[in-house]
Amino acid sequence: MDMIKVSIATPDGPVYEGDVEMVVVKAQSGELGILPGHVPLVAPLTIGAVRLIQNNEEKPVAVSGGFLEVRPDKVTILAQSAEMPEKINVERAKEAKERAEKRMNDKDIDMKRAELALARAMNRIDIAGK
Ligand code: ATP
Repeated sequence: MDMIKVSIATPDGPVYEGDVEMVVVKAQSGELGILPGHVPLVAPLTIGAVRLIQNNEEKPVAVSGGFLEVRPDKVTILAQSAEMPEKINVERAKEAKERAEKRMNDKDIDMKRAELALARAMNRIDIAGK
């Protein structure tokens, strides 16, 4: 089986380096499945899961936006933040979700910022449960 190298890095450092059979990401233009030999591309990512697929198993990584660069033998993801499921603190994410929901009921707030915080928290809770 052909493999493709994957590197996921954030401003805090590397989060994942490895070889997989397929990577599925949520680009702003929609979901993209990337196999070895994919045409080069660069795309912005949304808050969501990056799914690393190998031996019929799938490992999700929680990613909070950023950029994807695809070359035929390598996928590089530069994310604002990224966590493997086992590194996610679910309590922290639940508290962040509650804070964001409370803020959204407030009139004088930056709604977009609260929505993004809520999306990050929900993504972490979802991925930690997988
Ligand atoms: P919070 O309000 O809890 O800080 P946030 O969504 O604002 O959440 P980010 O700014 O996205 O947090 O991330 C800041 C740093 O904290 C990043 O390194 C990120 O990986 C880490 N982080 C955030 N939430 C969690 C979590 N629930 N579990 C583990 N790491 C987290």
